[in-house]
Amino acid sequence: MYKEIYPHIFLLEIPLRNNPLKALNCYIIKGEESLVIDTGFDTEENRDILLGALKDLSIDPKKTSLFLTHLHSDHTGLAAYLAEEGVKVYMGAIDGKILMESAHEDSPHWMKIKRLAELQGLAPDNLNIQDHPGFRFRPKSVPQLHITKEGHLFNIAEYTLKVIDLPGHTPGLQALYDEEKGLLFSGDHILMTITPNITYWGEEMGDSLGIYLRNLDVVEGLELKQIFSSHRQLPENHKERIEELKNHHAHRLQESLDILRKNGPSTVREVTKGLQWDIRAKDWNDFPSSQKWFAAGEAHAHLRHLEELGKVKSESREGILYYSLKD
Ligand SMILES: [Zn+2]
Repeated sequence: MYKEIYPHIFLLEIPLRNNPLKALNCYIIKGEESLVIDTGFDTEENRDILLGALKDLSIDPKKTSLFLTHLHSDHTGLAAYLAEEGVKVYMGAIDGKILMESAHEDSPHWMKIKRLAELQGLAPDNLNIQDHPGFRFRPKSVPQLHITKEGHLFNIAEYTLKVIDLPGHTPGLQALYDEEKGLLFSGDHILMTITPNITYWGEEMGDSLGIYLRNLDVVEGLELKQIFSSHRQLPENHKERIEELKNHHAHRLQESLDILRKNGPSTVREVTKGLQWDIRAKDWNDFPSSQKWFAAGEAHAHLRHLEELGKVKSESREGILYYSLKD
C-alpha cells in the first residue's frame, strides 16, 4: 500500500473509514534517520498499516522522527503510540497546545467549541460534543512533543526540509519545504478535489479565512516542482489549484452577502441554512449533527472575514451573534 514516489520518499495511503476524506497520504522519508509525516487515526487498522510499512521498509522507530503538520486526529491519532515505539514527535507550539487541551469533554478546547456553538445560535439543534468528529476520533493521549518553530530543519536522506508556518486550516498548521528541490509537504493547506475546511476558531485566531487566503498567496509565491498534500491525488499545477480555492471562497463570501441582503440581521446558523451545501440532505433538519458543527464553523469563518473587510458588522444579543450588512 506504499510506493516510492520520489527518491527515498514513500507515500503510504492510510484508509480513513467512514470519513469523506477517504484516506490520509502519510509520507515516509527513508534515510539514516527517517521521517514520518502524519499518522492516521488511533485505530488498530491504521496502526497495523503504518507499523507494517515501517517494518517492511526496514525503518527502525528509534531512528525515526514524526512530524505532525496539524492537530486533526487523522494526522495525529497514532503519535502517542509511535512515541512508545521510540519515535521522536515534532509539532508546532500552537496546534500542540490545542491538542494537549483536547483530551476530555470538559477540556478547554471542547468547552470553547461548545461556547462557539451558542454564539452561532446552534442551541436549538441540541448538538452533543460526542457527535463532533474531532472529539470522537481525538487522540486519547498526547506524547511528549518537541516543538518546531518556523525555520527548524530536518535533514533526511538528500532532503533539507524547512518548517514553515501556514495557519488557516488550523491555527498552527506547519508545512515542510525543500527550497532547493522545490518540494512542499503541505498538510491540508492545499488539497485537490476537496476544499480544505476553514472554520472559525474564536477571537484568538480571529479572521481565519483571511489568514488562510494570505497563506495561499505565500505558497503561490514559492517555486515548486511538487506538492505532497495530505489527502487525495497530488496537485499537478499548484497555482491553478490555488486560484480555484480562492474562487471557491470568493463565491462563498458573495453567497453570504446575498443572504444577509435578503434576510437582514442573521445568526451564523441562519446564514448556514441559506448557503448551498454539497451534502445529501433535504434541509437543515436533515443534516447529520456532525455536519452541522462543520457547516456553521465554515459559515462563521466567511462572515468573520466579511467583517474584517468592512462589509458586514456583528453585534451580540443575549449571547448570540447577529451579522448584518454594513451600510
Ligand atoms: Zn486537517
